[in-house]
Amino acid sequence: MELHDSVQSVVGDRTAKVLRTGLGIETVEDLLRHYPRRYAERGQLTDLAELEIDEHVTVMAKIESVSNRPMKGRRGSILEVVVTDGRGRLSLTFFNQPGRARQLVVGRVGLFSGKVSLFNKKRQLAHPDYMLVGAADDDEDGDAEAAAEAAAAFAQGLIPVYPATGAMASWKIAKAVQAALGPLETLEDPLPPSMLERRGLLGLTDALKLIHLPTSRADVALAKKRLIFEEAYLLQVELARRRAAAAAVAAVSRVAQPGGVLDAFDARLPFTLTAGQVEVGATLTNDLAQTHPMHRLLQGEVGSGKTIVALRAMLAVVDAGGQAALLAPTEVLAQQHHRSISAMLGPLAERGLLGGADVGTRVALLTGSIGAAARKQAMLDAVSGDAGIVIGTHALLEDRVGFFDLGLVVIDEQHRFGVEQRAALTSKGVHPPHVLVMTATPIPRTIAMTVFGDLDISTLTELPLGRSPISTHVVPSGDKPHFLDRTWQRVREEVEAGHQAFVVCPRIGAAESDDMEPVADDGDERRPPLAVLEVAPQLIDGALAGLRVEILHGRMPPEAKEDVMREFTSGAVDVLIATTVVEVGVDVPNATAMVVLDADRFGVSQLHQLRGRIGRGSAPGVCLLVTELPEHVPARERLEAVASTTDGFELSRIDLESRREGDVLGASQSGKRSSLRLLSVLRDEDVIVDAREEAATLIAADPTLDNHPLLRAALDAALDPDRADYLEKA
Ligand code: ADP
Ligand code: MG
Repeated sequence: MELHDSVQSVVGDRTAKVLRTGLGIETVEDLLRHYPRRYAERGQLTDLAELEIDEHVTVMAKIESVSNRPMKGRRGSILEVVVTDGRGRLSLTFFNQPGRARQLVVGRVGLFSGKVSLFNKKRQLAHPDYMLVGAADDDEDGDAEAAAEAAAAFAQGLIPVYPATGAMASWKIAKAVQAALGPLETLEDPLPPSMLERRGLLGLTDALKLIHLPTSRADVALAKKRLIFEEAYLLQVELARRRAAAAAVAAVSRVAQPGGVLDAFDARLPFTLTAGQVEVGATLTNDLAQTHPMHRLLQGEVGSGKTIVALRAMLAVVDAGGQAALLAPTEVLAQQHHRSISAMLGPLAERGLLGGADVGTRVALLTGSIGAAARKQAMLDAVSGDAGIVIGTHALLEDRVGFFDLGLVVIDEQHRFGVEQRAALTSKGVHPPHVLVMTATPIPRTIAMTVFGDLDISTLTELPLGRSPISTHVVPSGDKPHFLDRTWQRVREEVEAGHQAFVVCPRIGAAESDDMEPVADDGDERRPPLAVLEVAPQLIDGALAGLRVEILHGRMPPEAKEDVMREFTSGAVDVLIATTVVEVGVDVPNATAMVVLDADRFGVSQLHQLRGRIGRGSAPGVCLLVTELPEHVPARERLEAVASTTDGFELSRIDLESRREGDVLGASQSGKRSSLRLLSVLRDEDVIVDAREEAATLIAADPTLDNHPLLRAALDAALDPDRADYLEKA
């Protein structure tokens, strides 16, 4: 038997079918990689308090009471069996099966498996699968085979509990796994034996046996240590292999000319670059001078000055005779970049025009909403090379947009772009261009090493001097409505002092109500989140009467959006009531206050991004997070965390911890079985660091894995296209 054989070689056709349709298990390897979720211990009942509604669970519990009663108003009967862990209770219901009472007698212990539902405020399993264990007083008239297995399982000491489905209970999966483990001979191990030995890790065969049939917790730990390392190692070897392959691709070296547009720009900069900006600048200069493409991620807090760093790199490329493209995630942001970059360049952006400098270039804007004539001109400027810098949204990715000599692609706020889009733009050059990806969402190191493992990473840690602190407060409007009055008063004070404010709502307006998810907690539904179109009229007539208020949201026509942004930037508007369109990049230094309504509806990183819109000038900023949630619920505590620190790394960690692991890597969306089964990118930092080092050493010596054919085969098998996709996904 081989790992890639179909499961049918070890189990019957029917079981094979259930395994395939229910759990996506096709091969013997899939089955053996379906690791237990946990282990039940003899005599230890499952904590019933932990069960979550809608989860498919397997619990070990003791039967406390059994009753059979006729159904109300219908023929038939319900058998209700209440099981307990000694503290909590769970009720099991069977319809029209009074005979089961012969097996299910008070005092018996069993494994019960089913989907948890809520009935009459009590948690229950309807028609659960079960397997009774332990010594039976009476003779077993039920499933003799199951009883024999139970005895066998107990001899092992630990009973593996598998992630199961309705069609296949945990112990049936256990049986299938055992059928596969039986004939298993020593498997060829894809990991280098010398490394395993050096690190004290089990071989593959032993690890698989112990994870499924442990006799002690120590066995489980040993098996897991190996299997977790394997996951981290395969991932890191693949990433190292990609880095090596990227380094072998040819690109055009771009070196700025002294006395060119970059020098002229530096001479007119109204401020001094921070030490971090200088350092990252030098790194980029060096990357761009190489004859293989740069793939770099630049992360830095909101307001840390990433744009200037990117602009200087773009100017270096222009100096060297090439072009640079800047890809922004939204129309608003593309326009803002165009405005601010043109302003920073001044006469340097007007080459060939009256009043333009001798050295210089042109900056073109290409978005979906500019008129046909402007678009035609922008496309002409791009393809002729007249525009050294082309700024745009997705419109830049269209096939008909061509460049004369695209040398650098800068992608702002990467998390809004998918892989295909990165690829679409980088295929526009004759040679692959250099790529700089910018993000203001700080990523913990291990995530960066996993998700962005094929990118080099630079970080801007300090904010430019003269930045004022932002203070953030949670405003509990539920129990203290007068706090909300105080909030609007605060906004008025900022405006009276000559500043501006944002009010952010989670939703645009009522028309969206169909994409609202009702959030059920204890039966009562929360009201829908506050909407810009509903909140704005109330504020304009009420708390903010007399102020110049405008709204901004994603459903407005692009020209209207731009008008509003321009008025807000110029100071003609005092308060902007908006959705998260203001989340990324909007730069209005005079804005000093932000009120986020229903703040608990936003993620931690999103709130951090939002408040980065204020305090960008010299006056201190205040951010007020309004919520109706009471203290001590998790969502409220996340808001307190945002209020307590401005450290983006700390916050992104909190954010990630509050999500499920699969979401972190974006793998769960695909619905496919994740290839990371045991490795946690949050918990297993040390393992990832070690694996990365091992991988780097290996690839340095054997870049194409010619001397490690088993490892190469394992990688090729593991990296189906879906998985390769998430490796690149931001
Ligand atoms: P982000 O990293 O959020 O993209 P920006 O590049 O938009 O930050 O910079 C925010 C603001 O700080 C801009 O107005 C920019 O001109 C200004 N800025 C950038 N670098 C410096 C610096 N070294 N000193 C002072 N102001 C700076
Ligand atoms: Mg920015």
